[in-house]
Amino acid sequence: MLEIKCPVCGVVGEEGDFHGGGQAHITRPATDNPANISDEAQRDYLFMRHNPKGLHFERWRCDRGCGKWFHAARDTVTNEFKAYYSIRELPPVELMKAATGSWAEYFKDKMVTK
Ligand SMILES: [Zn+2]
Repeated sequence: MLEIKCPVCGVVGEEGDFHGGGQAHITRPATDNPANISDEAQRDYLFMRHNPKGLHFERWRCDRGCGKWFHAARDTVTNEFKAYYSIRELPPVELMKAATGSWAEYFKDKMVTK
């Protein structure tokens, strides 16, 4: 059983109190004309998902609280949630650095170092 905490309203509940929305940080192909999207880009957007053993970034919806979508970083081996963050935010930098696969590519130019 997963224990999840909504970062928006703060409600804590079990997996059934939330709705899993799949992989986070999927970028829709940017164009004003769908005919300009390549078959490969459309396939990747719709079907290709990262399924790691370990750190996973996912979307959840708070069904029994505020109803908002949010992001979570979870270890798929231990089911431990590493962070909860807004649907408009990126994960903490240390988790972006630990990301693998397509997320590592996605996060590599988004990490701001000060
Ligand atoms: Zn909530």
